[in-house]
Amino acid sequence: MDYETLREFLSSKMRLSHIYQPLLIKSLVEAGGTATIRQLATIFLSQDESQLLYYENRLKEMPIRVLSKHDVITKDGDLVKLNVNKLTLQQKAELKKICEEKLQSYIAERGLAIWDYRMLDTEPVPDSLRYRVLKESGGRCALCGATKKESLLDVDHIKPRSRGGKTEYKNLQVLCAKCNRSKGNKDQTDFRDTGSNDSKEGCIFCEAFKSREIIEENEYCLAFLDGYPVTRGHTLIIPKRHVVDYFEMFEMERTASNDLIRIIRKELLSQDSTIKGFNIGVNIGECAGQTVDHCHIHLIPRREGDTPNPKGGVRGVIPSRQSY
Ligand code: 5GP
Ligand code: ZN
Repeated sequence: MDYETLREFLSSKMRLSHIYQPLLIKSLVEAGGTATIRQLATIFLSQDESQLLYYENRLKEMPIRVLSKHDVITKDGDLVKLNVNKLTLQQKAELKKICEEKLQSYIAERGLAIWDYRMLDTEPVPDSLRYRVLKESGGRCALCGATKKESLLDVDHIKPRSRGGKTEYKNLQVLCAKCNRSKGNKDQTDFRDTGSNDSKEGCIFCEAFKSREIIEENEYCLAFLDGYPVTRGHTLIIPKRHVVDYFEMFEMERTASNDLIRIIRKELLSQDSTIKGFNIGVNIGECAGQTVDHCHIHLIPRREGDTPNPKGGVRGVIPSRQSY
């Protein structure tokens, strides 16, 4: 391609869905025409505002805060200054050497795990699995319902890989780029301070922690079979923290309980083809039928003919008003 054709492509043919194409061409021009994908990725990274903001926050929250406390550095607005007298070339080399040693031995010990959730695509989801999950989703984001016309859809791990989530059907869902991003942001919240292990003495559901009946769990919630099931597979999903009812749950716990509901639904459906529907229900307060004061969500599989007249479903909390 000659210069004129490329110029023509750039100015009138190139259709942008992001900044990627012009950024790639500009980067290649600057690199003298050829670059490795890793070199290009480094350039893209330096242009990615979300990554830059991420590291600005990371810097403020972690090393700047800690090093300021030790008077090693001073932060003045946006400026960060190393609190040390003028260094000789030799002193600089010595300090850099120590930093490099510390850096490399930390990486050598922990490997890629230090990058946690962003270690995304070391083990991509196999195409057949991806196809199955996309097909099942009806081409929509599991959280907001967006289609691929509205947003980029991707197959996402419900329980993140960095937290031990497996690349298997029941742990996969379709998310749009936007929901995936906000899910990622939430995952960074350190929730441990909120006391996710708070339990209440004598609470039968807090006891579930110690028993073997847990069928699925994630960081904030767990699920076990109801002891007096309404139908086969009737499952209770509870926050690990002892909270009395649904409205006391933190956003993270609600998200985690939804994750478990989706995982268990898939598991039940794949194990039992007679399941044709579900009821999800939460009793809040004694007058609404709550008998255990540790928040729990009922996931009740439904089958054809499991009750003579299913019409109205959860309206049956007031039996005389179930049907309308
Ligand atoms: P609630 O009526 O409070 O919405 O629901 C309490 C649920 O807990 C009931 O469906 C009941 O069957 C279940 N349940 C009560 N005690 C136990 C127990 O000891 N083990 C299990 N697995 N479920 C229980
Ligand atoms: Zn409890």
